[in-house]
Amino acid sequence: MYPDSLKSLIESFKTLPGIGEKTAERLAFSVLDLEDEQIELFSSSLDEVKKSIHKCPICNTLTDKDKCFICEDSNRKSDILCVVEDTKTVFLFEKLGMFHGKYHVLDGLISPLDGINPEDIGLGMLLDRIENEKFGEIIFAFKPSIEGETTSLYIKKILEDMNIKITRLASGVPIGADMEYIDSLTLERALNDRKIID
Ligand SMILES: [Zn+2]
Repeated sequence: MYPDSLKSLIESFKTLPGIGEKTAERLAFSVLDLEDEQIELFSSSLDEVKKSIHKCPICNTLTDKDKCFICEDSNRKSDILCVVEDTKTVFLFEKLGMFHGKYHVLDGLISPLDGINPEDIGLGMLLDRIENEKFGEIIFAFKPSIEGETTSLYIKKILEDMNIKITRLASGVPIGADMEYIDSLTLERALNDRKIID
């Protein structure tokens, strides 16, 4: 029914999370209404974002610079490290302005059921960093889930003899909730009331 190019645009939108057939159609038709310059900007942004974005060599946060803005910032506390499961969480915490230490981004969480094992989540980079930098505290800020729990315990066990305080977000964050859908007050409280893992 649809011309091929329109159909292909609809299919492209459908590859994005949360976009079903109807929304994809609506988006595709609204693209047809855009001015030429807008289309130009849209397609070049799509092109650029993939080309210029890479992982920060220190903390694994997505960046388009040599180092990310956090590793670049010498005013941040360097003795406290917040370990997160993805870059989205870094941006979320930064938007809320509730953490002033350093971050480290894992490549996801351990999830044996999904075939994601400890060697798949970039632990080597984290452990190297912990060995080389002097952190007094490491916070695991994972979404509350079996995967988050498994990952926390796994890393804690490796760090056992290192005499570093290891904490996690306080409970109150709903189980299974995605970080970005947790309200900022709850998240801030969970961070401030963080608990030592034992
Ligand atoms: Zn960085």
